[in-house]
Amino acid sequence: MPEQVVIDGIEFARSGKHLSGDLEIGSLGRLRESLSSSEGAVEYSIRGGQNPKGRPMLHLTVKGTLSLTCQRCLGALAFPVDVRSDLLLLQDESEFADIVDEDDDSVDAVVAAPRMSVAALVEDEVILALPYAPRHPEGECSAGGAALGEATVKASPFAALKQLKK
Ligand SMILES: [Zn+2]
Repeated sequence: MPEQVVIDGIEFARSGKHLSGDLEIGSLGRLRESLSSSEGAVEYSIRGGQNPKGRPMLHLTVKGTLSLTCQRCLGALAFPVDVRSDLLLLQDESEFADIVDEDDDSVDAVVAAPRMSVAALVEDEVILALPYAPRHPEGECSAGGAALGEATVKASPFAALKQLKK
């Protein structure tokens, strides 16, 4: 059974803790809707730290291969995920304004909580990394839709974020 792993965000960051493990893709409910198969797992690692201004941060990496659906032939499409993300931890939502002013927008921010779900953090990052309309490379779609191809679309997790900020 997948157990819910939670961390105390600020405390985890301040004491520089580290946590890594695997998450069953099938346990990530929001992500599952975008997938043609929910088999397999992603590997994650979370490390606590702080930015140069002393704000608590989480450094998150997620690796794995997701099975998406090609939007041209509706066949399965293997999509490698390799996400590295720095998440600034905020005490509350009012801090969002400060972050936008003082930091470049390559950094993401979340409101910290004493019980943050690791699965939810990982899932958020993976969802941001998904291409909007995944497709096999030109000419590699199969009529039967059974072939597995490597995705050529490389989505930037920050592209999606920038849109959210507008
Ligand atoms: Zn295709």
